Amino acid sequence: MSDNDTHQQPASQIRRRFLQAAGVAGLVLGKSASAQTTPPDHLAPRPSPQPIRPLPEGRRPFGYAIVGLGKYAINQILPAFGECQHARLAGLVSGDPQKARKVASAYGVPEKNIYSYDNFDDIRNNPEIDAVYIILPNALHADFAVRAFRAGKHVMCEKPMATSVGDCQRMIDAARRASKQLMIGYRCHFDPITQRAIQTIRAGKLGKLRAVTTENTDVLSIDDPSGQWRVKRSLSGGGSLMDLGIYGVNGARYLLNEEPIEVSAIRAESTNPVFHEVEDIISWTFRYRSGALAHGNSSFTAAATSRFGIQAEKLSGMLNPATGYYNNRFETVAGEETHILSDPMFQIPALNQFSAQLDHLPDVLGSGKPSLATGEEGMQDIRLIQAIYQSAATRRPVSTDWGDWRRKA
Ligand code: NAD
Repeated sequence: MSDNDTHQQPASQIRRRFLQAAGVAGLVLGKSASAQTTPPDHLAPRPSPQPIRPLPEGRRPFGYAIVGLGKYAINQILPAFGECQHARLAGLVSGDPQKARKVASAYGVPEKNIYSYDNFDDIRNNPEIDAVYIILPNALHADFAVRAFRAGKHVMCEKPMATSVGDCQRMIDAARRASKQLMIGYRCHFDPITQRAIQTIRAGKLGKLRAVTTENTDVLSIDDPSGQWRVKRSLSGGGSLMDLGIYGVNGARYLLNEEPIEVSAIRAESTNPVFHEVEDIISWTFRYRSGALAHGNSSFTAAATSRFGIQAEKLSGMLNPATGYYNNRFETVAGEETHILSDPMFQIPALNQFSAQLDHLPDVLGSGKPSLATGEEGMQDIRLIQAIYQSAATRRPVSTDWGDWRRKA
């Protein structure tokens, strides 16, 4: 298992949350929903999630070809097309023709829209495919993205965007040359609970944020092919930080709405030969100009956690689980009072984060609204991850005072 698979909850826990939500959170939420608020000064504007418009009459849905039919593609992305409003599955790209044919027949993809990694470039001649969605091992993202842009397609690319800043830049440049959109698969930006947490923070309800702490762990099985490439540096670009800790890096940036000016990190020594090439446990601290700090931890040998603690002047907040596929939870804590803001059945309409992410790219293209997950966003995470690795290797803080990350590179 990786990337914190679903967080299913027992019925007793759901019932307990039902009572908590009905008794406490409903009241609090009622208030927050009606309040007109202005973001505090220290928070720079950043695009906020907006509802997706229905597909205009007569417009055909946006066709994606999925590149790589591994665990994440098969278990999460392909089924999510069923709930999309704008997007549809139009093609498959795989190194395994038998698997591709089986998946194609299950999802009604015509044989002519199946490609191999070798004839992938022929996709340029297929008008049913508007974009490719790259769900391959990390080091393969950049080359496939560049090939897709050359073929005149938009690109959705899984996180981490690439294994080097140079490759991220190559992808951004190729998108610009082709005048096509590049989006990174930061699904949490489309998770309704995360969106509610961001809205609550941006509305100033917690007060000024002072610190964020985050943990992202999971036990990696190398008996599973998904685990094998994750511990090969040439394919993964790094260990738990590239795979799981990236949620903490991106999440700290998103929650604080500020870029760190200095990074310090430490990596644990592992005697386990599995972690010969990449790190198992790594911890990092970001220092911000506002005086805030963020601290993160990731590991491949600790049981699954995905948490954000948010310490702020008025209230503290907790996202736990934070990055699950479903059933994430956000609560604010003041003294002994806990307000749960996340019970989906009461306060937040059910929304499948995967379908919302797939719909976002055509929605951005059709409406001109800003993308929530640009290539620049993905590249900044890789820059910071490289700074974390550098600090861990040199045992010294690394300056990351690079100016506005949204600038055109
Ligand atoms: P996986 O190992 O299950 O699938 C990888 C696919 O790539 C397989 O179909 C494999 O055959 C193919 N492949 C092509 N060339 C390969 C090569 N040289 N070596 C190994 N495999 C090769 O991996 P996954 O868990 O599906 O992850 C794929 C990507 O998706 C990664 O970038 C990962 O970070 C990302 N991911 C994201 C999330 C998320 O929640 N956003 C979750 C899981 C994975």
